[in-house]
Amino acid sequence: MDDAGRLQVDKYLRVEGHDNIYAIGDCNSMAPQLAYAAGEQGQLLVKNLLARENKQDLVEWDSQQYEGTMIMGLGPSQAAGQMPGGELMSDEMAVPFKAHDLMVARFHELAGLENNVF
Ligand SMILES: Cc1cc2nc3c(=O)[nH]c(=O)nc-3n(C[C@H](O)[C@H](O)[C@H](O)COP(=O)(O)OP(=O)(O)OC[C@H]3O[C@@H](n4cnc5c(N)ncnc54)[C@H](O)[C@@H]3O)c2cc1C
Repeated sequence: MDDAGRLQVDKYLRVEGHDNIYAIGDCNSMAPQLAYAAGEQGQLLVKNLLARENKQDLVEWDSQQYEGTMIMGLGPSQAAGQMPGGELMSDEMAVPFKAHDLMVARFHELAGLENNVF
């Protein structure tokens, strides 16, 4: 574990010292500790479990891809955001992503539920 109590992982998100144990999301030492990154790490884990099963090369986690990314919802019709590298996001991008319905529709979809709220 690192000083913050997170599991140290390698570039494939395997817990250091273990070939077949993975740690994804906030519990691992890989930046950034963000919800979107946790979801992407879940998808990478599935790919790597399948790759391992099929004796193919594992895919690396790219910890740079979200560096500096942040989106804040400011009520239902306003939001502010920053892209990887620091470029500001337009309203057209930020509002649908984080404001509007506070991502309820996205979580409905992830859970396989019919979206009858929005
Ligand atoms: C105040 C706050 C604001 C944030 N804002 C943002 C944001 O705007 N954008 C963004 O991208 N990220 C944000 N984050 C970060 C985001 O919430 C996390 O990165 C994300 O939730 C990590 O997902 P996870 O699945 O790894 O962990 P979690 O979402 O924490 O899920 C872990 C789950 O495991 C459960 N659990 C814990 N211990 C046990 C146990 N022993 N047995 C069974 N279950 C257990 C917990 O109850 C929890 O449900 C924010 C975090 C905080 C605290």
